[in-house]
Amino acid sequence: MVELLTSSSEYCFAKRLRFLMELKEFIHFPSISAQPEHAEDVKRCAGWLANHLRQIGLVQVMVIPTKGHPIVYAEWCHAPRKPTVLIHGHYDVQPADPLNEWRSPPFEPIVRGNDLYGRGASDDKGQLFAHVKALEVLFQTRGELPVNVKCLFEGEEEIGSPNLPDFLVAQRDSLAADIAVLSDMPMLAPNRPAITESMRGMLSLELEIRGADRDLYSGLYGGAIDNPLHALCEIIASLRDREGRVRIAGFYERVRDRRPRERTDMKAYGPSDTEILHSAGVQETWGEPGYALYEKTTIRPALTVSGIHGGYQGTGPKAVIPQRALAKLDFRLVPDQTPEDIERVFRCHIARVTPPTVRTFVRKQDSAKSAMIDRRHPAMCAAFSAYRNGFSATPVFLRSGGTTPVIRLLQGMLGIQTVLMGFALPDDRVHAPNEKFHLPNFFNGITTSMCFLDEFADGSIWRNRRLVPPEFQNGVA
Ligand SMILES: [Zn+2]
Repeated sequence: MVELLTSSSEYCFAKRLRFLMELKEFIHFPSISAQPEHAEDVKRCAGWLANHLRQIGLVQVMVIPTKGHPIVYAEWCHAPRKPTVLIHGHYDVQPADPLNEWRSPPFEPIVRGNDLYGRGASDDKGQLFAHVKALEVLFQTRGELPVNVKCLFEGEEEIGSPNLPDFLVAQRDSLAADIAVLSDMPMLAPNRPAITESMRGMLSLELEIRGADRDLYSGLYGGAIDNPLHALCEIIASLRDREGRVRIAGFYERVRDRRPRERTDMKAYGPSDTEILHSAGVQETWGEPGYALYEKTTIRPALTVSGIHGGYQGTGPKAVIPQRALAKLDFRLVPDQTPEDIERVFRCHIARVTPPTVRTFVRKQDSAKSAMIDRRHPAMCAAFSAYRNGFSATPVFLRSGGTTPVIRLLQGMLGIQTVLMGFALPDDRVHAPNEKFHLPNFFNGITTSMCFLDEFADGSIWRNRRLVPPEFQNGVA
């Protein structure tokens, strides 16, 4: 294995300028999925990517049309008795606005220092391409891959993957895999790789309050007829206490208490309160007492009012009791809270606190279960060891407060767990002007991806012996 690694790293070094040039070509396409005027660019980008996958040796390469932007699929399944890895990524990008804040044009990628600047450089073209180049290196130095590989590259990730569920249902059998790997997240720093082991779930609800069947003149009715906007404010106020605990009966019922060792681990490796405050640009901490900010955003659930709407919003005054008021609520859930349970207790709470003078309506907008992958899973062991090879540093396990829809889709619809191996950096400015990708991470990412496939191919050793490497005994999943 050592010899093979040497030859692959020699190949990688010899071809590094071409790899960089190809990544620039990839970024050159303004594949902005949100803007209809770029639909053709998204398509051209998909074609370019498919062509590239064909050139490096993948087969069954397809640009699959959807109702929106196409999916690029490719595979290589000639490793009998070896596991199958599904590599997921997205080739679409966020809009580049505001354009005047870019130091160089967003779709004319340019290297400054050790970074490659351009829209999509980090999110997700650069990270996706690290896997693609890893496959090329393996094909070129060994003539084969250590595992079976299926690549699923989306063109609608930045707009919420609206057509992915149908595709996954239709292609369930051909997408079967033992594990999925996704690289679309940050590490802690260039020499501090990280594996994301959990993500919070989510539930978004809309709460509507209705009063009279039309707007009423407040001069005639004010003081006598209840106002849906006031009722909404009271109901919203009843949802939490002053310190930030959610006051819905049953809300915390299934929240797991984390073990002290786990919390010590999080304190040692996760971001500090100061770092989180700094990244939010805020001075004061807030929220449930007794927890660090990193804990509040990952192992504790949260309720956020994300919008309130009602009544007159124009200039000047208007004497009106509005007929309706609306709030948008965003819950972030942890194991073992389910969106169904939380919706149920929320509905009970609303029924209990609604005054008889108004009517309430709760509508579900979206939901996702929390996701968590055991550190002792063979793919996590493989990822751990791969980062140590690729970045010459021991990775830490991170928890994320966010929710990535594709992970729940892969888990829910295909029954595949996902290993989250990010190669981005916290200061990559994803979704913002002057997005960049740190080039050492690109090349270390290639090595990491190769090692991951190698290690996962041999993962059966760990699986069979139930051997937990010593590093994993630190902290518990
Ligand atoms: Zn992304």
